[in-house]
Amino acid sequence: MSAPTPAPLDLLALAAHPDDVELCAGGTMCTLGQQGYRTGVVDFTQGQLGSRGTPEKRMKEAAKASEVMGLAARENLGLMDGEIANTREHQRTIIRQVRRFRPHVVLVNALETRHPDHHDAARLALDALFYGGLRKIETTDPETGAPQEPWRPHHTLHYMQAVPFDNPTLVVDVSDVWEQRLDALQSFESQFFNPEYDAGADEPETFVSNRNFFDWVEAQARTYGYKVGATFGEPFKYHRGPFGTDDLMRVLENEKAYR
Ligand SMILES: [Zn+2]
Repeated sequence: MSAPTPAPLDLLALAAHPDDVELCAGGTMCTLGQQGYRTGVVDFTQGQLGSRGTPEKRMKEAAKASEVMGLAARENLGLMDGEIANTREHQRTIIRQVRRFRPHVVLVNALETRHPDHHDAARLALDALFYGGLRKIETTDPETGAPQEPWRPHHTLHYMQAVPFDNPTLVVDVSDVWEQRLDALQSFESQFFNPEYDAGADEPETFVSNRNFFDWVEAQARTYGYKVGATFGEPFKYHRGPFGTDDLMRVLENEKAYR
């Protein structure tokens, strides 16, 4: 018997590596979970090229982080790390997940990045999101094998990575979930600073595994939070605006202003 198609997600986050979402939008995911929204993550690779940990370890860490963030779904596409080419085949793999989950909002990697995989994943995701709305691109559900309907999410946002945004479109106040957000991040104990993790002698310190990087994550959250009158914030950039509204006051009802 085939698995039923899952209920639609309010928000789906796409990522090159398991831990991109936890690092860049973890507080937003925690907040949405607490607010009762259905959220999910689709990781493209298992981070096979990571200098620390193993793909198996990383999958266990992702499962733990998913629980902390209250995700309704998490999938891994099993693409090869470092080879996130923008091919029809890869697009189709992503389209099948997007059509399966039918999200209202999608988060994707940043376009301007330090790690080439992040840029490659963003390009691949954006093209897949576009083509997924075309009826003549036919796909089948990855679980049930049933033919899928086209789906294009209504809003796409980039989360910020190593290269700071000059002008983010919006900042999500994540002050209330800050501890939970750090738990989600530190679930990836092989990747990020975690005093309880015993790295083996053959595991080198990396750009992201040291204490300074961990402190930088907090500094960034404080920097963007401060701009909107919050203690901690996560910035996002809207992809290809403008978006429309028939209720300007509802869009601007929040008292938090970008300063
Ligand atoms: Zn990454």
